[in-house]
Amino acid sequence: MTGELQTLWSLHDLDERLVLLHERLRKHPEERRAAESSQAAERERLAHHQQRLAELRTRRRRVEQDIEGLSGEEKRFQSQLPLVKKNEEYQALLHEIADRKRRRSDLETEVLEQLDEEQTLTAAQPKIEAALAEAQAMADQRLRSIAAEEEQVKGEVAALEAQRAGLLPALPAGTRSRYERIRESRGGRAVVPILKGACGGCYRGQPPQVLQEARRGDRGLVCDGCGRMLVLSPDGG
Ligand SMILES: [Zn+2]
Repeated sequence: MTGELQTLWSLHDLDERLVLLHERLRKHPEERRAAESSQAAERERLAHHQQRLAELRTRRRRVEQDIEGLSGEEKRFQSQLPLVKKNEEYQALLHEIADRKRRRSDLETEVLEQLDEEQTLTAAQPKIEAALAEAQAMADQRLRSIAAEEEQVKGEVAALEAQRAGLLPALPAGTRSRYERIRESRGGRAVVPILKGACGGCYRGQPPQVLQEARRGDRGLVCDGCGRMLVLSPDGG
């Protein structure tokens, strides 16, 4: 194997590791979204709960105002009782008073029922808040571990890129630019081994002449299928 092919083989090894590291980096945004969405669900649950409680309170205040209104009307009718002369007017006032009392009593029952529901919701809130706090803590921990892994992977990428930069000057200019071009267009994999007589990148079977040349190992070969540079791995695989 010539020095050029050996360099390409070393680059192949670095590039395979870089491809795997970049795959890990590409997963991080989705992992972050998943961590954030778990706490978003809990936050939504709490917001929904608080909204329901606020609605109940608003409705109860409206009913309480209605009760006050009925109470006022009742007092007005009461104050008119001593002033009327005719029995039928007196009876009519008593009828109105009884009507206001009945409606007030109905509304008071409604207020009590609503207070019950409000109390139940208020009592349930700390548990929902605790679940949100727990989800937030878990999400924060997950986000920190993703950030730490990302930091580590980026460090490994930088180290491999530095090794790669160190190897490139050993390639003749033409080979080097071809290698970079193929690497760019083929997902970071420019050099692939010949495996069982086929291209290790696209699995196209290679003609006997190419295999023969590969065994001689004196010049770079290119796969007709994917355009990658073919190297017979030094261990003969
Ligand atoms: Zn191929």
